[in-house]
Amino acid sequence: MKSEFRQLLKIVNQENIISDETDLLAYSRDLTPYILKPDIVIFPETTKDVSEVLKFANEKKIPVTMRGSGASFTGSSLPRKGGIVLDMSEMNHIIKIIPEDFICVAQPGVSLGELNSELMKYDCIFPHDIGSKDVSSLGGVVASDSHGHHGLKNGKVGNWIIGLEVVLANGKIVKLGTNTLRNNCGFNLIRLFAGSQGTLCAITEITICIAPLPKTSATIGIFFDEMENVMSAVRAIIYAGVEPSAIEIVDQFSLNAVNKTLQLGFPKAEAMMITDVEAPDDDSLEKKVNVVKEMCIAHDGRDILWSKDPKEMDTLWLPRTGIDIAIAKTHAGYREVGFAIADPCVSLSAMIDVMIKMRQIFDEHDVLAAVFGHVGLGIIHPAVFVKVDDPNEWKAAKKAEKEIVDLIAQVGGTITGEHGIGLIKSPFVPAELGNSLDIMRAIKQLFDPNGILNIGKMCLDELSFEEPPHSAYSKYKDE
Ligand SMILES: Cc1cc2nc3c(=O)[nH]c(=O)nc-3n(C[C@H](O)[C@H](O)[C@H](O)COP(=O)(O)OP(=O)(O)OC[C@H]3O[C@@H](n4cnc5c(N)ncnc54)[C@H](O)[C@@H]3O)c2cc1C
Repeated sequence: MKSEFRQLLKIVNQENIISDETDLLAYSRDLTPYILKPDIVIFPETTKDVSEVLKFANEKKIPVTMRGSGASFTGSSLPRKGGIVLDMSEMNHIIKIIPEDFICVAQPGVSLGELNSELMKYDCIFPHDIGSKDVSSLGGVVASDSHGHHGLKNGKVGNWIIGLEVVLANGKIVKLGTNTLRNNCGFNLIRLFAGSQGTLCAITEITICIAPLPKTSATIGIFFDEMENVMSAVRAIIYAGVEPSAIEIVDQFSLNAVNKTLQLGFPKAEAMMITDVEAPDDDSLEKKVNVVKEMCIAHDGRDILWSKDPKEMDTLWLPRTGIDIAIAKTHAGYREVGFAIADPCVSLSAMIDVMIKMRQIFDEHDVLAAVFGHVGLGIIHPAVFVKVDDPNEWKAAKKAEKEIVDLIAQVGGTITGEHGIGLIKSPFVPAELGNSLDIMRAIKQLFDPNGILNIGKMCLDELSFEEPPHSAYSKYKDE
């Protein structure tokens, strides 16, 4: 352990510290191409531990990066300037569940999967089913203000937070919120901290709203020969008052790749729509399914499949959720990489055109990518796969990334509807944020005047604009 960190042994036990160079490597990666190693990893067990570590780091001006499960797509949990990583996984207790008030209090290190297993015992759920829900921590999804597959119904995680305990950069512990479902007392600091990606505070306790488990639900898969017809059908479904919990679109590439590799036997089509509906009983569920079918047929949807059996529902979702498995089986050496274009959001009127143009851009640059998204919301998820040791692959993907960022700006969209800015999007966002970035920087200065928390993220400092060490960097830089 470097001598400057020895003092930490007075705060946490030796077994709560990692300083071995090889072990630290595990903390140097996420789904971005960057490699950024911490000097030390600490596993706090209490809010007091967090407070004392931050106090120590603030006095010595040592960078601190909080980490949940490290499933970020944006580089947000990578230590841009080394220093301390606070791995929150030991603070993983569910403190209380109060089903009669629809409230739960938990520590940040609990995974969404564990949280929901416990909540289900009370017939309740925290309904934010992000793609990494089995591993991602509650603290990570709150700090990222994540958005799950059923976000059409449930919105973003931030809307479900009614209380937070946070530790500021100077070690000060602050409690926010009450045990009530509504609170309009003062500035909404909870919403400020939710989504701040560890740049303003460490989150040490979270009070969330919980929902009753849906009584019954169904998935409907519909196949279309024209992508534009999917959007017309979506509007019709929403106007019909069905209130689907999710509506997804999967492009031809993804549908065909998954269909073939996983032998699903689905029809070929230009696009597939996947819709989930929920209801209090089977009769009302079937009525909703029938409305969705009618609306889709009216817009040239065909070969409609539906099921309320959980396993069959998962199968209907596979063209959306199984693309990584399909690519792994068919393209050895390729892996999905989080580029700056992983989660843009555009207006519903622009969405299909943007998806079609994205596909053209990927094809022109010979980039392996699937394009899908939350069609009821305008969020597009291009999943980009790169052969990681091939510099030409990186160059091509970076060119496509730039063109797609420009395309999103042209239609008035945002570069991120879900994952946040982190590190990978920082160089692209000043144009979108305009002079509101000055306000963000002033807020950062207020909460973290020494600039120790999650340095180099969210364009809050100059380091955000420098390219960090890259997994294929030496080759890639020779461009
Ligand atoms: C396969 C896959 C699917 C995904 N699907 C989705 C999806 O559907 N929707 C979506 O929104 N995202 C998705 N993501 C992105 C990612 O999982 C989410 O952003 C998630 O919220 C990260 O949680 P985590 O515990 O892994 O946090 P980390 O990646 O460890 O951290 C994320 C950010 O939160 C900060 N942080 C973590 N804990 C704390 C804390 N206690 N206090 C303060 N700051 C903290 C970190 O510093 C970092 O900035 C997906 C990722 C993968 C790999």
